[in-house]
Amino acid sequence: MKPSITVEKTKSAKTIPAAKDFGFGRFFSDHMALADFSKSDATETARSWNSARIVPYGPIPLDPGAAVLHYGQELFEGLKAYRGDDGKVRLFRPEMNWKRMRNGAERLCMIAPELDLFLEMLTAFCKTESRWIPKEPGCAFYLRPTLIGTEPFLGVRPSNDFLFYVIGSPVGSYYGEGADTVKIKVETEFVRAAPGGIGAAKTGGNYAASLKAALEAKSEGYAQVLWLDATHRRYIEEVGTMNVFFKMNGKIITPPLDGTILPGVTRDSILQILDSENLTAEQRPISLDEIQDAAKKGTLEEVFGTGTAASISPVDSLGIKGEKIVVGNGRVGPVSAKLLKRLTDIQYGRAEDPWGWTLPIET
Ligand SMILES: *Cc1c(COP(=O)(O)O)cnc(C)c1O
Repeated sequence: MKPSITVEKTKSAKTIPAAKDFGFGRFFSDHMALADFSKSDATETARSWNSARIVPYGPIPLDPGAAVLHYGQELFEGLKAYRGDDGKVRLFRPEMNWKRMRNGAERLCMIAPELDLFLEMLTAFCKTESRWIPKEPGCAFYLRPTLIGTEPFLGVRPSNDFLFYVIGSPVGSYYGEGADTVKIKVETEFVRAAPGGIGAAKTGGNYAASLKAALEAKSEGYAQVLWLDATHRRYIEEVGTMNVFFKMNGKIITPPLDGTILPGVTRDSILQILDSENLTAEQRPISLDEIQDAAKKGTLEEVFGTGTAASISPVDSLGIKGEKIVVGNGRVGPVSAKLLKRLTDIQYGRAEDPWGWTLPIET
């Protein structure tokens, strides 16, 4: 059955800020999309996803005993609606976000909406918020699908009730002119995720565990931390909110998806782009020693993060216990620059989309 989404338009539309003030996630649009699921309800309709609706943006009623507030039963997603030079709006691989939410829901004992409903809520929401999808270069409308356990119950077990919602925020260009580089701190004390844990799920708990390390890194002048594996503090995992790639000794390498890192949609896309350019990346464990050795030999050519927010984020240096490792010549490397262009050209509809990654939507 095709879900039908009701729309209640706001009576007090906001003024959209100037693109230069967007930043990231500072402003929310006029509406939000919601749907409910109740496993324990007596009515059959309630025991499947129902009441899909778009309503004016605002606080959501939540019982103070709700599972999400006590035991962190929560998943979120992040993707962008890009307005191309042709005026058309495109989503980038939204079914990948759905798949990740579904996998996360399995791990956290939650129920995720079906693909149909997920996509319909995203597209209907974008249609309602069309005026919020910026046309300024490098800007986009960031979508935040979120799934929470809402059942009020303090016993420790999975929630029977869930709320799925989508909110949106206009976001600015990550870069002024061309890509900028960032300094990254190799985190040798705190860890993000351990084997058998929830590192592969896009859930708030992983971020709660990361905030202290990120705050300390910021105070030391770094943009983010590079996480090491929990067991040995030796193998590279990922960078803050991004997956990470290295070009060293002539090869492009990224850590494998072994359950402790987040399977990024950008990571997957970059792997396919690299393949198509005969630059196939190795997916294998990378030790800190290997990076330090390459740096010593002068063969640590490029390091870059991949994620929806910045697409490609080139790294100019790594700090390890106060010691500085300079990457390449400290500037944006040719592979990073090429990948950034290739990926964003597809996202903004400037280049052919050979993989069918973009989903054009009517707005
Ligand atoms: C979301 C996220 C990423 C990047 O995933 P994309 O799908 O490429 O945006 C990487 N690491 C973490 C921890 C994340 O939460």
